[in-house]
Parts: sequence; structure tokens; C-alpha cells
Amino acid sequence: MSRNEWLSRGGVGMEPWKNDNRWFVSPYNYDPEVRSALRFSPRIELHDITLRDGEQQAGVVFSKDDKIRIAEALAEVGVHRIEAGMPSVSRDDADAIRTIVRRRLGPKIFAFCRCMVSDVKQAVDCGVDGIVIEIPSSQHIIQYAYDWPLAKAIDLSIEATRYAKAQGLYTVFFPIDGTRAEPGWFLDLIEKVAREGHMDALGLVDTFGGCSPHAIARFTQQVQARIAKPLEAHFHDDFGLAAANTITALTMGVNVAHVTVSSLGERAGNAALEDVAMALRVLYGVDLGIRYDKLYKLSQLVRKLARFEIPSNRPIVGDMLFKVESGIISSWLSRCKADRPVELFPFHWDMVGQPEADVVIGKGNGRDSIAFRLRAIGVEIPGDDPRVDTILARVKKASLRKHALLSDDEFRRIASAVVRLGNGARRSSAGKLAARTVPSRGRSRGGSSRARRPAKRR
Ligand SMILES: [Zn+2]
Repeated sequence: MSRNEWLSRGGVGMEPWKNDNRWFVSPYNYDPEVRSALRFSPRIELHDITLRDGEQQAGVVFSKDDKIRIAEALAEVGVHRIEAGMPSVSRDDADAIRTIVRRRLGPKIFAFCRCMVSDVKQAVDCGVDGIVIEIPSSQHIIQYAYDWPLAKAIDLSIEATRYAKAQGLYTVFFPIDGTRAEPGWFLDLIEKVAREGHMDALGLVDTFGGCSPHAIARFTQQVQARIAKPLEAHFHDDFGLAAANTITALTMGVNVAHVTVSSLGERAGNAALEDVAMALRVLYGVDLGIRYDKLYKLSQLVRKLARFEIPSNRPIVGDMLFKVESGIISSWLSRCKADRPVELFPFHWDMVGQPEADVVIGKGNGRDSIAFRLRAIGVEIPGDDPRVDTILARVKKASLRKHALLSDDEFRRIASAVVRLGNGARRSSAGKLAARTVPSRGRSRGGSSRARRPAKRR
């Protein structure tokens, strides 16, 4: 499609950016000029690192059983590879990796190792398909954090990667802190290991999340100019850009994305599996062939086992993404939920397995929100009935007092107390209450509903 054709079609009909029952995003994503800059590999793989980098989040401990349950859930989603742990951490970790390998869940199983022959031997004993083998790659970390002579990093890398090759392991060479390494030294290191040691693929590693998407593009380009190896993106989320960085690298032909469920991981975590997968599917038209409808369930499982809460407005899997509080959006939901649900949301709740869109009860409600919830609990009263105003006023008052949304039971109690009132008595009291406490029937979408969420869910 030419640019003029694209402009003239103006987003009408079934287009890559608008699929009535699945998603509705910006046509600019599919502008031919935008698309012409993308060079995705024909096969992109998700390498999930929840069980290794994810567990490194301070305070997260997975038991062997937890690891097996998460690996099973990852396999159900259909990730291509699972980094199941680091055998040298403990006997239990090695045992968990071995058990996951034996389950033959479908995804290829990897172990994480230091650049040491003894670590590689432990990975071989676990029966994994491949290893991710780390070495510090910046002079400052080698000198200050490890207190090694520089040559040691090179010698260890060559020796351990050669050994891994001899054992038949798919070997991802993983130079940590690559984005902060001195560029000349870093490029010389990877070239030397590619030539004298061994690597099936190279990890582009932004260990401290300190690289912007534009800088990632430059970093990727420099590495591609120096060595002809498949590349893997491993980016941390310290500035909230890990998913953007990952996609930037993928648009340049990088083959594998390292991700964790819901960004679990050290400090601010890693690129989130669900963000990367859904952005690729919906914004870029790249289908990874996974079960997108299991993403929400996977996130819930990991949160439970990691004892880790995510913000209720977290992208893709936040628990409140499809909850509507404001009056105006409640009226949109009433009109569009059945036939045009993606008028209100960029993607349909079913696509990721979220519960269906619904109206919640709180201070931000308008008349339409109350009417929507009354219908949901089987109370049919006309929309212009003053009892709706009375209920709305009482809901606002109760929500303010509670500093949170109201539960279904709380709403039911308010509604049934009001609905039981006689018409005459109700009309006068409703009028007063409404005039005093119902200033905003239709707050705009840009309103501050986020600020009103329960504090513990942030
Ligand atoms: Zn990492």
C-alpha cells in the first residue's frame, strides 16, 4: 500500500490497526513510512528469565515447586525458551532445572552460568539445551567490582565458551554491563571471543537499564557491524524503557527478547513479557504465535508465588485496566460494550484473559455508572428516577469516607436502602443531596481516577 492509498483509506474498515473485536490502535503504526524502517527477523523468540533474573528481585524466593509451576505456565503461554536458573546457586536450584528439563514442557531450557568451566559442567549435568554465559565486559566493573586484571575476563571467556561448545550446548555469550563498557574495549572483547572462543549468539546487555531506545539502536548497529552473530536483547527497566529498548533492537533484526513476567527482576526489573508480546502483536503486527489469552493468568500466578504486587494500572495485566469509574466512560461502556468494545480500550479484555470490562463504584461515578451497576444487580428503575441521584450522592459520600472504591455488598446496601424509600419522601431528600454533593456526572477520561485508587494497590 502506498502512502497516498494509506492516507485516503483513513482507517476505515478492517485494518491492521483496527480489528473490531480484538484491538483498535493508531493507524500511524502502519504508516508505510514507519513500516519501511522496520527490519524484524522472520522468527523472533521469547527467552523468559523470570526464574533467574526475576528471582534476583530483592525479597523474591521461589521454591523448586514454584519454579516448576511457573515453567509449566510459561510453556502453556508458549514462550520459546525458559532460563530455568543458575545451577551454581544451590543444589535445590540445580535440582529444579533438572526437573524442568525432564518434564519436556516444550520450550528449550537454558541455564545461566559464569564464564567458568565448573559452572558449564553443572549446566551439562542438568541436561539443558543451552547456556547463557556471563562475563563482566566493562573495564570499570572488572577492575572495581571484581578486582581482576583485564586479561582475565578475556581468558575465562575463551576457555569456558570453548568448553561449552565441546559439550554441544547452544551458547549465548553474555557480556554484562555491555552498554556502559568502553565501546572500543567492548567491541574488541566480543570479536576476540567470537574468533578464539565460541558463541552461537551474543547478548546485548543493558544490566543497569541506562540506555535510551535511540542509544540502543546505535549500540546494536555497532555490534552488528563488528560481528555476524544472532543477537539477543537483555534490557533492564530502570527508566521504564526496557520494553521500548527491546522492541527497538528487534526492529533492527535482533532475534531473541529476554523478558520476565510483569517485569519481575532486580531493582526495576526487566522488559515485561506481556508488554513486549502485546506491543509486537498489536502495534507492529508481529505475531509470536503464543497464547496471548493466558498472559493475565500467568501474571497472577507469578505474583502469587513471588509474593509481589504490581500496580493495578500496570500495562496489559493490571487488575483495574478494564474497570470504569467515571460517569462519562460508564455511558460509553453501556453503549459500546456489546458491539464495539474497543472504542473504549486499545485491546479487548478477552485477548489477554482479563475479566470483562465493568463499572466500579466510587466517588468518581456519575448517574450512568449507578444505572449500569443497578442493572448488573437486577434493579430496574427508570434512568430519570430521582432515586438514582440519591444513590449516587450516598455512594460519593461513602467512597470519600472510605478513601476507596465500594464493594458490591456496600453498593447493594446503599441501593436497597434507597430503593425501599417511598417516592414522595425520596424525591425531596434526593433533590437536596444531589444539589449538594453531585458536582461531576461526567468526568473526562483524563480525570484523576488513578489518584483515588486504594493506596495499597499502587
Ligand atoms: Zn539482567
